[in-house]
Amino acid sequence: MSRTRRLVRVRGVVQGVGFRPFVYRLATDLDLAGEVGNDGDGVFADVEGEPGQVQAFLDRLCRDSPVLAQVDEVTAAEAPVRDAAGFHIVATRGGTATTVPLPVDTGPCDDCVAELDDPSDRRYRHPFINCTNCGPRYTIIRSLPYDRPTTTMAGFLMCRACASEYADPGDRRFHAQPVACPDCGPRTTLLDPDATVLARDEDALQGTVQRLRDGAIVAVKGVGGYHLACDATSAIAVGELRRRKSRDDKPFAILVSDIAAAARLAHLGPAATAALASPARPIVLAPRREDADVDAAVAPGLVDVGLMLPPSPLHVLIARGVGRPLVLTSANLAHEPMVHDDAVAMATVAPLVDALLVHDRPIAVRCDDSVFRQVDDGGLAAIRRSRGHAPRRIPVPSSHDVTLAVGGHLKNTVTLVRGGEAVISQHVGDLDHPAALGAFHQAIDHLLAALDVTPTLVAHDLHPGYASTHAAQALGLPTVAVQHHHAHVAATLAEHGRRGPVLGIAFDGLGLGPEGGLWGGEFLVADLDSSRRVGHLVDVPQPGGDAAAREPWRMALAWLEASMGRARAEEEARRLDAEGLDARGLDVLAVSRAAITPTTSSVGRLFDAVAALLGVCHTNTYEGQAAVRLEAAAEMATSRADPDRDLPDGVVDVDGPVATLDARPLVSTIVQARDRGEGPSVVAARFHRDLARATAELACVLAARADLSTVVLGGGVFQNRLLTGQVTQRLRRSGLEVLVPRMVPCNDGGLSLGQAVVAGAAASGR
Ligand code: ZN
Ligand code: ZN
Ligand code: FE
Repeated sequence: MSRTRRLVRVRGVVQGVGFRPFVYRLATDLDLAGEVGNDGDGVFADVEGEPGQVQAFLDRLCRDSPVLAQVDEVTAAEAPVRDAAGFHIVATRGGTATTVPLPVDTGPCDDCVAELDDPSDRRYRHPFINCTNCGPRYTIIRSLPYDRPTTTMAGFLMCRACASEYADPGDRRFHAQPVACPDCGPRTTLLDPDATVLARDEDALQGTVQRLRDGAIVAVKGVGGYHLACDATSAIAVGELRRRKSRDDKPFAILVSDIAAAARLAHLGPAATAALASPARPIVLAPRREDADVDAAVAPGLVDVGLMLPPSPLHVLIARGVGRPLVLTSANLAHEPMVHDDAVAMATVAPLVDALLVHDRPIAVRCDDSVFRQVDDGGLAAIRRSRGHAPRRIPVPSSHDVTLAVGGHLKNTVTLVRGGEAVISQHVGDLDHPAALGAFHQAIDHLLAALDVTPTLVAHDLHPGYASTHAAQALGLPTVAVQHHHAHVAATLAEHGRRGPVLGIAFDGLGLGPEGGLWGGEFLVADLDSSRRVGHLVDVPQPGGDAAAREPWRMALAWLEASMGRARAEEEARRLDAEGLDARGLDVLAVSRAAITPTTSSVGRLFDAVAALLGVCHTNTYEGQAAVRLEAAAEMATSRADPDRDLPDGVVDVDGPVATLDARPLVSTIVQARDRGEGPSVVAARFHRDLARATAELACVLAARADLSTVVLGGGVFQNRLLTGQVTQRLRRSGLEVLVPRMVPCNDGGLSLGQAVVAGAAASGR
């Protein structure tokens, strides 16, 4: 019978994910001869056999590839038949595989969980069980090539049983770098806060489970850092955790053992369900069920609850052992990044907890939990891309090599673009604190080392005061400053593989405009190269600068004075003063009028003002609190909302050279409704609808003027699913295409991606 031979090349995420054993099994199944191996470009295979079988091989190569693989390209070149016999996995060719993308951290696969549960398996209840289809990756890699000695598993000498699985192409653990078992792998230890060893291994697990059941707070060392855990059904435990961790109201995520348990706590659509169970094991925010058995203090004043399935086998054992929903929240001091270092944990986390469950596999790089939110159409929107998603690549419309973008100041991430692909780093956080700055530099170093590249261009925010801007300028490379809201719009464009031009709507808390203005409610005609401001929210004073972002009542007074005049604002200030502001209300109004006080067009600050005017939130204990609580209040009212109505006169003004969205008439009607005794929920819902309507009406006019048919949303305000849903619906009804951020966070976590593609477009001067 005639034979045929093909030289096959596979590119993408194909190393460290079990691709060679997969090819080996596939080829052997189909009676093909030849070989398979890794090289600097991915995986190569030389296959020879009956033509139909070779075709079947090529067909199944993509279709049946391992779960963690991401096949970008398969090529097959014809070659002369050699009549070879047998199929082999051959040694890696061409030294290190440096252009090959890295795999991400992955929750336990079904096969590993089955072994975890099997008393006859040698890895029964082993908290570090993993295989080529699952386990830690990005957080254990110290340098390239990705091989056991360059990971934090280097210190663990494989036992004979593990070594033979590791070497066996037919085994699920063939070349699984973190392979381990109870005889040779990492071990858990339960510690007292003073570092006294309480128990080890299975006893440590049992001790942890018992303590959590008894209401204790336990620090747990996870995949990308330490968490604090406690019984989420216990008001005492949750209250105590809040008291010890900080005084804020930041929502806690909940760890549940499985989907059924998650579905008992929240209304989950198919996308949320799939995401929860996905290998990345993110936190998914979805509306809490009325009868959910978790304490209300888990997420004060919010509609959503954040859920997570066990991100590692250790968490599987804890969640099942306790048998109740558990709070699992990042361990950190206020405003500092999540703790991932053992010594730091003993110094800073131990004093907060009753015990620590630790293990001896070091975490090479910190990686917070990823967060997605269930949105109106049942889909999901990224709030934070981190563990399980970093450093996954996304294709982008940028050809410039190699651009590093350093992000903004809050919710920082960094992005590297090369070869038409972007790699967004894990979440770094707010760069206020020295520890966060350290994390920022570590994230850049880890990304550059893991990808083995040197940037030729660095993009940063226009704000000269950002720590990220300073860092970018210190690198000694050509830099490009990118305007904040242009970057937000570009991030959404990049996610959708588009270059523009479009009408961009960028609503957020704050970004510097080109002339130094405090922007945050912007309508831009933009493409990747450039942007032009064609409309904005009217400016009002931002009394106290940054303090206004922490204290929404300040913006309430500024908006009230702008909308209803001095006397009405002073009356409100006196009322607030009497309620405990100690004369600061009148002081702030004086500041608000001062000529040196900057004005802002920020929609985020408008949300703050409305939340404070309605008594929903006067002080932010975490970023965006007033806005999320206002949205939650509105969501509680949507079922009994009053019918659509026309906007008050003058809200949309398109007469000037730059159009404005004037929210003053909206603020007046809000205060009037409040004073008539209407409940905050109904008024909040009406505010969302009016703002959405005004935004859409203005956008329609501006798009038509610029002859554009596509509108792009960006900026942290669009985390608000109510506003985003309504704006999108209205624009689509008007016949416009709307691009909404989904995979990439609309908040400043996506800023670095936008910066990178804008800088790349500028540099390549297309
Ligand atoms: Zn596995
Ligand atoms: Zn072993
Ligand atoms: Fe922003």
